[in-house]
Amino acid sequence: MKKRWQWNERTRLVLTLELAVVLPAAALIIFMALRLKSIQRDRQVEAAIQRDFYEVLAISEKHMSEKANEMVDQVAHQFPHPNTACPESLDGLLEQYPYAAHLFLYNPDRGAIFRSRQARMREPDFRTEGDELAKMMAGWAKIDYDYMVKKLHELASKGKTPVFYEGNHVSRGDRHLYQSIAVFLLPHTPGERPTVGAMVFDAEYLRDRFFPEMLSSCMRSNFAEAKSDKSGSRAGMMVHIRGESDPLATSAEWDGGTPEVERNLETAFPGLTLAIKLHGTTLASLGQRFIRTSFLILGALSVLLAAGILLTYRNVWKEMALARLKSDFVSNVSHELRTPLALIRLYAETLEMGRLSSQEKYHQYYSIIRKESERLSALINNILDFSRIEAGRKEYDFRETDIAELVRNTLESYRYQIEQHGFAFQESIADGLPPLRVDREAIARSLLNLVNNALKYSQIEKFLGVKLYRDNGSVKLEVIDHGIGIPPGEQHKIFEKFYRICDPLVHNTKGSGLGLSLVRHIVQAHGGEVSVESAPGKGSTFTIALPVNSGVPATSAS
Ligand code: ADP
Repeated sequence: MKKRWQWNERTRLVLTLELAVVLPAAALIIFMALRLKSIQRDRQVEAAIQRDFYEVLAISEKHMSEKANEMVDQVAHQFPHPNTACPESLDGLLEQYPYAAHLFLYNPDRGAIFRSRQARMREPDFRTEGDELAKMMAGWAKIDYDYMVKKLHELASKGKTPVFYEGNHVSRGDRHLYQSIAVFLLPHTPGERPTVGAMVFDAEYLRDRFFPEMLSSCMRSNFAEAKSDKSGSRAGMMVHIRGESDPLATSAEWDGGTPEVERNLETAFPGLTLAIKLHGTTLASLGQRFIRTSFLILGALSVLLAAGILLTYRNVWKEMALARLKSDFVSNVSHELRTPLALIRLYAETLEMGRLSSQEKYHQYYSIIRKESERLSALINNILDFSRIEAGRKEYDFRETDIAELVRNTLESYRYQIEQHGFAFQESIADGLPPLRVDREAIARSLLNLVNNALKYSQIEKFLGVKLYRDNGSVKLEVIDHGIGIPPGEQHKIFEKFYRICDPLVHNTKGSGLGLSLVRHIVQAHGGEVSVESAPGKGSTFTIALPVNSGVPATSAS
């Protein structure tokens, strides 16, 4: 047995309300709450990233200074003793340490020695650099010797590495490079004045090896943990000369753009700035993306909510219309029941009194009582059928049927009424129609509903035509009238339950608004379709198309 869910109107309304309004509204509230939380979290993440960046830069500077100190220390330890120092011994030292470009020592009693890496003296820029440095350092040491010694002693007494650095910009063509000058004290014989040593870092070495390696190793060690916790994004670092924006050296992750956080290097590389930013994005655009997605989701949810409200409004409106139709139906049906009952009672009472003059009159009264009771039972059958359909309990008894004979017999029993109403009746039933599997009673009732409508809704030209013929894979049953017709805008609505056209011509006619909805249900249960062609004032043709080989079972409930 075929079982179909019959939707209770109220359940449907409640479900629509829940799905269309409550659900999006709940989603909106939850989303807003989550967003508020995530705004907080994102602000914290943003602040945490900035804090991380400051930390990373400070740690990186420390690493770089330590490394520079280590490198300077190695050279300082190998420096020849001030008493025996000569240009050749400095040359040997320069050979040994490729990161040192120039070495210098100064003692106020012995004077200054300055040596540049000999192998590079053929390069004009390098030679100029060496010449200028030689002059500059000799002058500087002479003037600032006391200050230098005092400063280095102070550093040592504070437990710090006794080295200080000065930055120096050198030209390479039309560009600038940077080098740092490390100044330290050399061991001295007691009683003598201390000798000041200096090592000038090689500018190319700093740019091509020292900074790239340092930046990458700082990124590796600093972001190993940071990557997995807060932002999840990678960062890139670079170092540039203070006052210039072009990077001197970058880590592999640097992808250009404006740095997020900067730090001026003060210890080993004064005059340089260390900078850091997120790879592929900025903190500002992270925030913007967050706001954009918030608005998008909010917009989508609002659209959903609006659609839900619209849907609910439509549903409520439909329900109200249905309620109106139902109340019309009740008054229509009561009226339809009352009229035949009153007639039956009136004629039955007259008959009971036995005062009729002729046999003919008796016949006439009996026939009126029969006709009215037929009308009554047709109406009650319609209502019962409708209630069975609504409750999903309507059962059909499909049997192999000679459809021509069924139509003929049904019309025959109605012929008297048709003709009595003064209708011109035309019946055309094709020969050799195939037998169809139908529920006899249901099909007969559909036909009678259509015929009855044709009679009810024809006022001036009284014509009724019934045609039965084969059309390809189906057998078609047409009921034609030349009555009031149906406006095109109403034609799809008349098959809905309780629906009656809002027209004085219709309202003066008795009806319940159930007939066509029953016809449609019955025909669809047979696998067929019912349609209408009509023009107001010209008449209507209702067509039932039943499939020839419908696969419907012998009995079925719908
Ligand atoms: P009713 O009991 O009102 O006739 P139906 O479901 O049979 O209910 O028909 C629905 C409405 O369709 C009718 O109220 C009428 O307005 C319109 N209608 C049905 N059949 C015809 C027809 N043959 N000609 C004009 N209007 C029709």
